Amino acid sequence: MSTDGAPLGLGRKVVVRLAADIGAAASWLSELDGATGDGDHGINMRTGMDLALTRVEADASLSDGLQTVSETLLNEVGGAMGPLYGVFFAAMAEACSGHAEIDADCVLAMLTAGTDAVVNLGGAVVGDKTLVDVLVPTTSAFGEAVRSGRGLGQALAVAAETAARSRDSTSEMQAKVGRAARAGERSRGQIDAGAASCALIISCICSVLATTAATSTGSN
Ligand code: ADP
Ligand code: MG
Repeated sequence: MSTDGAPLGLGRKVVVRLAADIGAAASWLSELDGATGDGDHGINMRTGMDLALTRVEADASLSDGLQTVSETLLNEVGGAMGPLYGVFFAAMAEACSGHAEIDADCVLAMLTAGTDAVVNLGGAVVGDKTLVDVLVPTTSAFGEAVRSGRGLGQALAVAAETAARSRDSTSEMQAKVGRAARAGERSRGQIDAGAASCALIISCICSVLATTAATSTGSN
């Protein structure tokens, strides 16, 4: 058992998955950022996740793994996303701290806390063409799935699908905040880089949690 009683190694599994998937998508993320920004998003995120992977303990709980990502991104990754993802991962880590079982209520609390932290720090609202355009609908769809009686596995699948769809919907938007806002109308026509990395992060977390949901219930 890790110190806060959470399942052994879940945090490590999440960080391994994040480092792999963000690493594989790094060029694409930087390309998206380069269309209207400075093109550093993929490199920054890959550097952060690779560093976090070297720091996370083998038996890290989910909370400990997310906290390691938070501290690494906050302290060592530049750009707008270092602090924004720093508070996002810290809020999610806090929401699941001490939970021996990561159930649907816990995941909803994590998504809600992570979303609130990003909104409170960055001040972006839905429609501004940022990761908030992924976080808000994803949290809402996950909550709706849980309230309508779906099991954890199904609700996680709904969250990942909503995140991907929401990421794609940022293509039509004009950026209102951050560096991309300077591009004005020119910011339309491609997916927002932060929305893309956020959908990937949600997909990584959901698929690792879905494995444990399947293991613990035998079904969903
Ligand atoms: P920078 O713009 O400093 O180079 P990054 O390239 O790391 O930062 O991240 C750019 C992403 O940050 C954007 O695609 C957008 O999703 C997100 N972003 C920028 N400003 C904000 C904000 N105020 N609130 C939420 N997200 C933001
Ligand atoms: Mg950038």
